[in-house]
Amino acid sequence: MKKITVLFLAVMSIHFLFDQEIFAQSQRWQQSVSYQMDIEMDVKTNQYTGKQTIAYSNNSPDTLNQLFFHLYYNAFQPNSMMDVRSRSISDPDRRVGDRISKLSPEEIGFIHVESLLINGQEVEMEEVGTILEVQLPEPILPHSTVLLESEFIAQVPLQIRRAGRDNAEGVRYSMSQWYPKLANYDEQGWHANPYIGREFYGIWGDFDVKITIDKSYILGGTGYLQNNNEIGYGYEDEGVEVKNPSGATHTWHFYAPKVHDFMWAADPNYTHEKLITEDGITLHHLYVKNKETKNTWPKLKEYTAKTMAYLSERYGAYPYKQYSVIQGGDGGMEYPMATLITGHRPMGSLVGVMMHELAHSWFQGVLASNESLYPWMDEGFTTYASTLSMSANYLKPTANENPLKGAYVGYERLVKSGLEEPLSTHADHFHTNTAYGSASYSKGALFLAQLGYIIGEETRNKAMLRYWEAWKFKHPNVNDFIRIMEKESGIELDWYKEYWVNSTKTIDYVISEVTEKDNALTVMLERKGLMPMPIDLIVTYENGEKESYYFPLAIMRGGKAAESDLPERVKTSRWPWTNETIEISIDQSTSKVASIQIDPSERMADIDKSNNLWTSAK
Ligand SMILES: [Zn+2]
Repeated sequence: MKKITVLFLAVMSIHFLFDQEIFAQSQRWQQSVSYQMDIEMDVKTNQYTGKQTIAYSNNSPDTLNQLFFHLYYNAFQPNSMMDVRSRSISDPDRRVGDRISKLSPEEIGFIHVESLLINGQEVEMEEVGTILEVQLPEPILPHSTVLLESEFIAQVPLQIRRAGRDNAEGVRYSMSQWYPKLANYDEQGWHANPYIGREFYGIWGDFDVKITIDKSYILGGTGYLQNNNEIGYGYEDEGVEVKNPSGATHTWHFYAPKVHDFMWAADPNYTHEKLITEDGITLHHLYVKNKETKNTWPKLKEYTAKTMAYLSERYGAYPYKQYSVIQGGDGGMEYPMATLITGHRPMGSLVGVMMHELAHSWFQGVLASNESLYPWMDEGFTTYASTLSMSANYLKPTANENPLKGAYVGYERLVKSGLEEPLSTHADHFHTNTAYGSASYSKGALFLAQLGYIIGEETRNKAMLRYWEAWKFKHPNVNDFIRIMEKESGIELDWYKEYWVNSTKTIDYVISEVTEKDNALTVMLERKGLMPMPIDLIVTYENGEKESYYFPLAIMRGGKAAESDLPERVKTSRWPWTNETIEISIDQSTSKVASIQIDPSERMADIDKSNNLWTSAK
């Protein structure tokens, strides 16, 4: 017991240093945690018991009278909120459907906290589905740290969604959302969201986790293995001879600093392959070798290394020394320092899902915006980054193709479906899964793509690195993001956020009238859609010369610098958004105009591009 206390204090002091770092950089406070867990897993009953000790620091200016824990595995029981929602939504996730309602007592998931002490005192608690509500005997004062000690018992559900046992590819344990996890409290209050479908939000801290399990099992997950030379299975340091300890179990000891969640996976048949990147990051790949994986997984490592370098250069240096790609779960799901992906895929799909989940390490893992409130700041930005990575590192398309075309098409389809809801909708509260998916992934990716159009590609790229430096490990929200873009560009952008995120108004600009008189061509541009945007207009003359016209919105209080792939600018004038039309006069005395085009880069998500081009009748 004494040994544990000493270690615990050491962990806490690291963690306080981390807090000071946060305060030095930002005015915003955030809670912090330090978890210690001892887990005993029974691979015959699929049940496990846990002892959990948490040092919880209330860095807020508020006095807390309650605490909330997530008990995610309780979702996998007939009539849970997740089950009812899945059976009543018009377009259920095929992986879930009505499967939860049919689980037997041996197949359900559960997690129950059997005892909980705060600073040694018992608390009053009530389990309400996937949330444990805790009433405190004494309030937690601002700027104080309390010790929470609990014991819990849990059963791993048959794999339905994300976590579980015995997934479709036969992987025994995909252990995510598996422990009593403290809900976050921030400047917007408590976030004790029940587990219905998506998404997650955690508190930054350290995880010290010991998992005792049948010794035939090979594990992977979040965190650095502390007793790697005792465990072996490819984790041992080079040249070390692993002595197999006696007894039927191994205790795997992991430590993960500065993360907001902890995932692990286990299977007796995992093949473990390791690669150390040029930047010194160890990449672990764990998969079950069979005819579906033997030709693809060994080649995956090189792509993981390439993607890690590509994303680090563009979005900020990956801050951990390890990343693990693990076969498991039900598709692809991101966790700190690791991912669970299904493995029976053709090479392109395997690389694509790895890139997507790895890109989450930046937006979900380290920037870590509240994914329930701002799912698009995670899924959309991740889609944007991984799509470009896939294009650069795997598909290598020709220069003319826009790699993000799929996102534009996805967004247009959403608009035409009539199902669209604002991006600002809470992830669980979209009326349909379609609306959630297209909004978060496609419309979210276009948020960044269009910013390149509005403030210029180079400025947007620089601002992404500035965003990382300013907000890593701090849970930024949409205002924090847009302020960085404003600071880097010198352009006011609140209008863009309001329209694109908080409304479903769409963009449609039109060349509505062209009239010729003497040597002058008068062109009328019209804003037909309800969302205003700055306009790039290209005029091509019959002699082959090109000119560009630029109409920033007056409310931008500035404009982007000329872009190198557009012709020379002959005119810039501000467009007040209240005016539906603007008129320009083009001199044709040297050469007649052959064509006029709105946004030839097609970065603007104009929902009707058929009226963006005018050509002289021949
Ligand atoms: Zn994703």
